[in-house]
Amino acid sequence: MVSTSAVRVQGLWKRFGQQIAVAGIDLELPAGKFIGLVGPNGAGKTTTLSMVTGLLRPDQGTVEVVGHDVWRDPVAVKARIGVLPEGLRLFERLSGRELLSYSGRLRGLPGAEVDRRAMQLLDVLDLAGAQHKLVVDYSTGMRKKIGLAAALLHNPEVLFLDEPFEGVDPVSAQTIRGVLERYTASGATVVFSSHVMELVESLCDWVAVMAAGRIRAQGPLAEVRGEAPSLQQAFLELVGAQGRGAGADLDWLGGGAR
Ligand code: ATP
Repeated sequence: MVSTSAVRVQGLWKRFGQQIAVAGIDLELPAGKFIGLVGPNGAGKTTTLSMVTGLLRPDQGTVEVVGHDVWRDPVAVKARIGVLPEGLRLFERLSGRELLSYSGRLRGLPGAEVDRRAMQLLDVLDLAGAQHKLVVDYSTGMRKKIGLAAALLHNPEVLFLDEPFEGVDPVSAQTIRGVLERYTASGATVVFSSHVMELVESLCDWVAVMAAGRIRAQGPLAEVRGEAPSLQQAFLELVGAQGRGAGADLDWLGGGAR
């Protein structure tokens, strides 16, 4: 089946008790793009990405990734995607190098090929010096990078990243960015979630804006930004948050009065 969409979501719902996390969203994400899923805290980004990558079963709705239904054909989908999930639960008692060897073998790659790719990824991500250190002793940024390496090792068609730059220093962020730009330039698709608008604006050519469990806008970056001077401004208008948080009610804060 030929599909120009990397991801197609229809009528997707997820409820946790009384809380509706994702309220019947439709999404169509084109292949070969650098795509940002943006929204404030609690918008439903992680819940959406978890359902799209087969980690969390939706209450209702369908998800197709590269033309395969995620919940009817999970093996076909999982072979074609890489995921850097929120929270990054990794095998802590393995070294970075061992983690990559294990991931590669799980993906069915021959040992020599796993070694070749692992060494290259460790070099590019500036982790070669820490390859024999246990993952439990890695810093936040190092964890993101080794998680990214594990997600890329089998050269997936679509890479899903939940907040890949959170807690990452500018040098590591630049390294991750370089790897992702190279990856999308070869025709692959990146979908990542973030609430940092400047980052999304500088990286993505396609964005989906989410708030309170709904998609407020989706399309090419320039189209979603519209006449607004920045994506941040367009985002604030879309989610109706202008003026909120200015602190007008916090009359006790500052000013010397205790
Ligand atoms: P953030 O940017 O803060 O990570 P998010 O956009 O990823 O936020 P989600 O983590 O998807 O948002 O959460 C959406 C809503 O669903 C929130 O109100 C959250 O409290 C709720 N929620 C998410 N997971 C669960 C869960 N396992 N049990 C109960 N409520 C949940």
